[in-house]
Amino acid sequence: MMNFRDFNISDDILKAIDEMGFEKTTPIQKKAIPLELEGRDVTAQAQTGSGKTIAFTIPILEKIFIPDKSPQAIILCPTRELSVQVAGEIENVGKYIKKLKVLAVYGGQPIGKQTRVLKKGVHIIVGTPGRVIDHIQRGNLDLIGVETVVLDEADEMLDMGFRDDIETILNDTPYRRQTLLFSATIPQEIKKIAKNYQNNPKFIKIDSNKKNNPKITQYSFKTNHKYKFDDLCKLFGVYDIKSALIFCNTKKGVDFVFKNLKKRGYSSQELHGDMTQKTRDNVMNKFRNGNISFLVATDVASRGLDISNLDFIINYDVPQNYDSYVHRIGRTARAGSSGYAFTLVTSQDILSFNNIKKQSKVKIIEKKIPTDNEMEMIENKRIMDEVKKSIKIDNLDKEVNLIKKSSSKDLSSEEIAAALLKKIREN
Ligand code: AMP
Repeated sequence: MMNFRDFNISDDILKAIDEMGFEKTTPIQKKAIPLELEGRDVTAQAQTGSGKTIAFTIPILEKIFIPDKSPQAIILCPTRELSVQVAGEIENVGKYIKKLKVLAVYGGQPIGKQTRVLKKGVHIIVGTPGRVIDHIQRGNLDLIGVETVVLDEADEMLDMGFRDDIETILNDTPYRRQTLLFSATIPQEIKKIAKNYQNNPKFIKIDSNKKNNPKITQYSFKTNHKYKFDDLCKLFGVYDIKSALIFCNTKKGVDFVFKNLKKRGYSSQELHGDMTQKTRDNVMNKFRNGNISFLVATDVASRGLDISNLDFIINYDVPQNYDSYVHRIGRTARAGSSGYAFTLVTSQDILSFNNIKKQSKVKIIEKKIPTDNEMEMIENKRIMDEVKKSIKIDNLDKEVNLIKKSSSKDLSSEEIAAALLKKIREN
């Protein structure tokens, strides 16, 4: 790790970074920023949570020439959520650069509003490929002055079918641009894009065993179809889970888990691709603010979302492949904190889960779902721990007197305590 001051960057940026509370660089920042400042093209294998946004934001901001109000950098992202998040982070880092204009462009928002801002002049565009092309075709956006192009979460963009759009946009930018590519995984198609559109790129990979990387404790639990939902709820109890992002593979699955959580009185919401963008934003905000405890989602939610303080990810369904597993569990343990990722595995999932286990660099530990008896013991222990704590720190004189008064020959204080314990457990 090193300090941001060790880079040759301007005071305006250092001051903003300082105010954001970042002292030391993350590994990706340490490796990528010096190369980018030299003007090199970079392909970086880095996940959300690694600090990649700042890793490309600093070199972009260093190059922006404010008097020229045409786009000088364009960042392509797979989703609207990520575009808004990245634009926000750039604005934060560029807070002290006077008159800097950053715009997020994405589908789902009326195009007129974005057009008006574009016409006034913007230095940095962040957007989804489809909407960027739309603006180019309408003559709202000219990329002739672009010096830097970033492909953020490139593997996700390809998975979502943006390949042609990305290539069209890259072909619309000057040949002498700097091209930065960030991707959690580097499959063959990404290598092809790098080969065709980057100039002698430097490849950076952050070793996932490094100390600075997120510490995600990964457990798997054998279950079966019939008891899967009950087992999920047991996990809440065993691990004292107050909030979690729960993934299902299908919209139907999301619906089922969400409805059943509601039935059991858990504060929960669902999130999937069939919902309007507005509703999705709404749900995400509520989850971020802590107004919803459990968010049940298909993979749409795992793309690029930055939810701080998310301690638990639960794969209610085993993800279809390793890349999806990596993306899902990357929503926890952001920027060096720690988190848990649990996966429920039925007998039908064993093959696909073994595949994921084989590719995982970190051991996924197999744990047992407790039996009902074990659950009761765990619950009793938790209550007794709280009782002991209360005896230590609370003034219980009034309560002790009440018990003394209520107990008699036929009603011992032990019996009163036992009945109270039962009542608490039933609540
Ligand atoms: P990213 O990988 O860009 O999505 O960043 C993940 C989170 O880490 C974001 O909330 C950033 O604001 C935060 N972050 C970025 N760089 C640092 C740093 N050097 N120290 C601490 N947090 C950081």
